[in-house]
Amino acid sequence: MTNFNFETLAIRTQMERTAQKEHSTPLFLTSGFVFDSAEEGAALFLGQKEGNLYSRFSNPNTDEFIKKLCLLEECDTGVATASGMAAVYTTFAANLQNGDHILASRDIFGNASYIITQILPKMGIDYTLVDVDNLEEWEAGVRKNTKLIYVETPTNPTLKTADLAFLGRLSKEHKILYVVDNCFATPYLQQPAKFGADIVIHSATKFIDGQGRVLGGAILGKSEPVSNCYGFIRRTGACLSPFNAWILSKSLETLAVRMDRHCDNALDLVKYLSEHPNISKVTYPHFSTYPQFDLAKKQMRKGGGLVGCELKGGLERSKKFLNALKMHSLTSNLGDCRSIATHPATTTHSKLNSEEQLRMGISPGFIRFSVGLENIQDIIEDIDQALR
Ligand SMILES: *Cc1c(COP(=O)(O)O)cnc(C)c1O
Repeated sequence: MTNFNFETLAIRTQMERTAQKEHSTPLFLTSGFVFDSAEEGAALFLGQKEGNLYSRFSNPNTDEFIKKLCLLEECDTGVATASGMAAVYTTFAANLQNGDHILASRDIFGNASYIITQILPKMGIDYTLVDVDNLEEWEAGVRKNTKLIYVETPTNPTLKTADLAFLGRLSKEHKILYVVDNCFATPYLQQPAKFGADIVIHSATKFIDGQGRVLGGAILGKSEPVSNCYGFIRRTGACLSPFNAWILSKSLETLAVRMDRHCDNALDLVKYLSEHPNISKVTYPHFSTYPQFDLAKKQMRKGGGLVGCELKGGLERSKKFLNALKMHSLTSNLGDCRSIATHPATTTHSKLNSEEQLRMGISPGFIRFSVGLENIQDIIEDIDQALR
């Protein structure tokens, strides 16, 4: 199996067929599983025998989803979670203790930032936030009690790139658990474990589902930190539902073709935007004007489905532009087959004051597009008429 390439693994990694000889994976919508005998039940509970007991512990659909995602990320093992945030929180809670310190980039998903700065300090876990592209700051941020490095790349919403190999070396040198949220890139575009990540986190809600239907998440990586996470979830309950796992495992079958089209559409949109007189700046990791172009090329197969741009005329012009869009959805979500326009300053990042926003590169005219799978001419035409 493991000799297959990415697309084949995504399609052909499947649970064993049942006696019904189904071609496509069936859904095991069951909370519990029965034992053949009293002895078998006892052996399963003691861990002397492998098998399904209860869907909070394991289920054929969540197992298939995780097995496949491990192969795609080239990680040893994994555990499925109810959402991306459950994956983030579990990784911290299961691997850190009172007195530990987290080193993280400032540009991270808003709720991840909330966990690090508001929830974990109540448990005596301290933090330092650094600019993702400032390597000296990362080095200077390491303390004796630093136990975890946390990073996303490309970042949300300003699409900066973290140097994955540099952080891999830094964490190895100081024996720090190295965690990468790979939600924006997906394993098709970037595999953080190859750059030394100990844990790779996903919000499967985004490009992995790809059609905006279900929430889900995953924690993948080396066996010790992931088994801490499995034990935590098994007891505290943030497991993935079998139905969502069934959806997400099927979604992985088409991840490669979808990501190719997301990326191709995004690059065409970037070329259009970069020549428009009302746009002052375009941000896209695989576009020649991108400040970390070489690094992004090294780490990512293609540039991804997200595009950032700066509208001339600030807040008022941005609102007018968003209200003039006819096809694009106005929502804060991303990674859907439907194209989405988001105004981070007034939605996803509105909790930050304007100084903090500017520090992250979120100006009042900044728009984030999640470029969908509609025909590219229709996507550009909608933006063009709104800009007019
Ligand atoms: C959406 C998102 C999350 C949270 O995932 P949910 O599935 O919504 O809980 C975490 N990290 C990143 C980068 C995201 O975009």
